[in-house]
Amino acid sequence: MSNRGVISAFRCVGPERFVRERSREDMDDRESPGGPGPTPDVEEAFSLLADETRLSILQELYAEDDPLSFSRLRERVGMRDSGQFNYHLGKLKGRFVTQTDDGYELTMSGLRVLGAVYAGSYDEVTIDPIPIDDPCPLCEGPLSAVYDRDHFEITCGDCETQILANPAPPGILRGREREELPTIFSRYTRHVLAQITDGFCPFCLGPTDIELDVEKVPGIGATHRCRHCGVEMTMATGASLLQVSEVVAFALEHGIDVREVPLWSQNAVFGADERLIEDEDDPAAIEVEITLDDDTLLVRLDDALQVVETTRS
Ligand SMILES: [Zn+2]
Ligand SMILES: [Zn+2]
Repeated sequence: MSNRGVISAFRCVGPERFVRERSREDMDDRESPGGPGPTPDVEEAFSLLADETRLSILQELYAEDDPLSFSRLRERVGMRDSGQFNYHLGKLKGRFVTQTDDGYELTMSGLRVLGAVYAGSYDEVTIDPIPIDDPCPLCEGPLSAVYDRDHFEITCGDCETQILANPAPPGILRGREREELPTIFSRYTRHVLAQITDGFCPFCLGPTDIELDVEKVPGIGATHRCRHCGVEMTMATGASLLQVSEVVAFALEHGIDVREVPLWSQNAVFGADERLIEDEDDPAAIEVEITLDDDTLLVRLDDALQVVETTRS
């Protein structure tokens, strides 16, 4: 057993800029039904969308809550030639568009494709640094948030540690005030962390493997690697505690609603010690002790970051 000393468990450094330097072997190793590279299925899907009329059909269906009839849809797309229109609609049917008794509507794939397009299209794609009132959880230095094209970062001006760094399409900026963006970034990251902690790749929903004690983040870090697309996300293991009901309840009993605390302040609110357990006979791999007032909650997690047991004292 090795005591790693006092390490704040709720520091979430990550998911870091998702590591994109995937080696060729990594890509070959991944568990993809179609093997490495885009499958014929994926190529076909993209080629289906490489047409203005078809994109217009999808957009019109996306804009409408109710199904549209053939003639109404054709009118909205603005195509006179019914045969030609039918040809393009037919190409989309099945995968992106479905026909019901009430008319045509998007399939879930159609919704997702359009949702991704809208999330990614926004005029304002770079935001100047926004100062954050709370201090850096590591050195008390000044924190600020930036957004640049497709990702945001919350970084300390003194120790230069990235406290949060996460890709997010510019749709995250839409309809939100500049001052509230750091909080929005924290809330969005919490949402992504929940997905990752529950074993879903936030990009492709594929299953993930976890490697513990990686060096990329302060404290006991965990890298979650998607078996399907190969993307890697690294975060402090403590971040997964935010998904543990006993921890959430324990905090609430002490007047803390963890959802209200931005991720960069979790350390200041919770005093937590964590240590790695190096005993092969022990089902737990990590032990975290959280102390609030005079109460202590001990949480033991296995190597998949699932709770083995919790003890109050
Ligand atoms: Zn700092
Ligand atoms: Zn994935």
